[in-house]
Amino acid sequence: MTVRTRADLSALPSYVPGKTVTGAIKLASNEVSAGPLPSVVRAIADAATAVNRYPDTAATELVARLGDKLDVPTGQLAVGCGSVTLCQQLVQATCTEADEVVFPWRSFEAYPIITAVVGAGRSRVPLTAGHGLDLAAMAAAITPRTRLVFVCNPNNPTGTALRRAEIERFIEQVPAETLVVIDEAYKEFVDDPDVPDGVELAKAQWAAGRDNVAVLRTFSKAYGLAGLRVGYAVGSPEVAETLRKVYVPFSVNALAQAAALASLDAEDELLARCRAIVAERGRVRGELQAAGYEVPESQANFVWLPLGERTAEFNEHCLAQKVVVRAFAGDGARVTIGEPDENEAFLAAARSFAR
Ligand code: PMP
Repeated sequence: MTVRTRADLSALPSYVPGKTVTGAIKLASNEVSAGPLPSVVRAIADAATAVNRYPDTAATELVARLGDKLDVPTGQLAVGCGSVTLCQQLVQATCTEADEVVFPWRSFEAYPIITAVVGAGRSRVPLTAGHGLDLAAMAAAITPRTRLVFVCNPNNPTGTALRRAEIERFIEQVPAETLVVIDEAYKEFVDDPDVPDGVELAKAQWAAGRDNVAVLRTFSKAYGLAGLRVGYAVGSPEVAETLRKVYVPFSVNALAQAAALASLDAEDELLARCRAIVAERGRVRGELQAAGYEVPESQANFVWLPLGERTAEFNEHCLAQKVVVRAFAGDGARVTIGEPDENEAFLAAARSFAR
């Protein structure tokens, strides 16, 4: 007898992370290149002395700090082992096998995978010709079975961002029993004032009696804690409570909680680092455009090159130059903005790619 696993999972592709190649510059996973601040390393080391104990499963101190920072009651917050886990928990909290999730495509690769793992239906809505989310088509894709819609803003991997009025108009079209999840993994890199702060937008919706908006954020990108796995969700009290019910106990570990708190203490410094990355993003995009590439405007810490059939070749070329980018076969390459010297190495590779 062999173990019978779910037949519907056998055809499911696994999540493929960005590659790490020894001796090469990694611009493949939207991490920040700079290592953690000394104060964060100290907080992690202090927390390490008590790892014989389970962590505080409710992450009480972190939730309280986030509540203060965002001006949201703690009952409307939930932390998770990275925001990807919260994506999965939100699908688990809203969907059974009879239900479905609407999401843009191409977007964060985990959306279809976690939806399939939960067993819910997947409805992918192609991006616009300008590589942005097609909210009109997403609204049209919602059916009575749709329990959740992911709105990735800015969108991974294209970097494009929706403006406030577009999102508000979209939410008006979504039925009250369908949850809109605004995934703001890259929020801290936004510099366009018309791109809304999702939490502020959600608060206005809640005040207007629409409870069906939730927001996801992470410490992985701007706060530089990708290796520790901590993110958070902000939603209505009911959504946050259900998230806490589907939570795997103790999944946000003690080191992650301590590091997140220390990062909030050092927020000014970390956000200044984000501004430097944003400046580099503008420079890299300009240089790529000057070299003849199409590069959609990005509000995240990466740029998107819609290279279509030449993507694999571009990827190989960059690898040969010891620069690792993230290639999506037949579609395009996503390149994280790193330190200026790393970006220079990438630009040299991009310029020398025969076009
Ligand atoms: N959402 C988006 C759009 C992402 O790009 C990512 C990371 N690639 C995540 C969520 C998950 O981030 P994490 O689990 O590290 O918080």
